[in-house]
Amino acid sequence: MQHGSTYPTASLDAWRPETPGRIEFVYLHWSAHDYASLFPAYHYCIAQQSDGTIVVAQTHDLRENMRDVYAKPERPYAQHTRGRNSYAVGISAMAMENATPHDFGAYPITEGLIDGLCVVAARLASYYDIALDADHVMTHAEAAIRDDYFGTTPEERWDLARFSPSTAALTPREALASGETLRVRMRST
Ligand SMILES: [Zn+2]
Repeated sequence: MQHGSTYPTASLDAWRPETPGRIEFVYLHWSAHDYASLFPAYHYCIAQQSDGTIVVAQTHDLRENMRDVYAKPERPYAQHTRGRNSYAVGISAMAMENATPHDFGAYPITEGLIDGLCVVAARLASYYDIALDADHVMTHAEAAIRDDYFGTTPEERWDLARFSPSTAALTPREALASGETLRVRMRST
């Protein structure tokens, strides 16, 4: 894990995709860490600075995922979504350390971070000609539902299944609705 000065970083307003090639899927994450730490498991990390500014850091070379990564898994690539990293870009909001569905902890996801995810995903989808639908642009929670590891244990994932804490039980239905809420927002970006 490294802090922001190490990676190329742009303001959300200025950031644009700039790596030509074949990308067919966009996966959306949260980091499950603090607001400052950045991770090369993703291609783009979206971080909110202390003054509220949203920035986009490029933490992994996207070209490494422009291939069937499982054909030659010894070659480096960003491992953001289990079994789904071929031709796939991973973007992540830096937040949600020690969060649970009923208590988002000291680094809760923010409206600014959610907006940043939607803006970055929409620009990537436009650049790579990816449909903004649930088969091509999905949260890690939705991928985990499809691949049978949705949940809140350490081995499971619920990224972006819920946007504010609640005592209600977290269900796949809610996670799918949350993913669709994000896609609706991307389509209007
Ligand atoms: Zn994730």
